[in-house]
Amino acid sequence: MDYTKSYKSQCDAACLHCGAALAQKQGAGRVKRFCTPDHGRLWRQRARALGFDV
Ligand SMILES: [Zn+2]
Repeated sequence: MDYTKSYKSQCDAACLHCGAALAQKQGAGRVKRFCTPDHGRLWRQRARALGFDV
């Protein structure tokens, strides 16, 4: 972890639902975790079914 660079520029996360590569938008705002809002919805739906509180 290089603390002289922003966290987002080093975040090479993939979509939590389908694993697609994500391009983080630089600047203010939260880190992108899903390729589409729909995948975020599906992932939370599945997490809830497994008993996670999301
Ligand atoms: Zn996805």
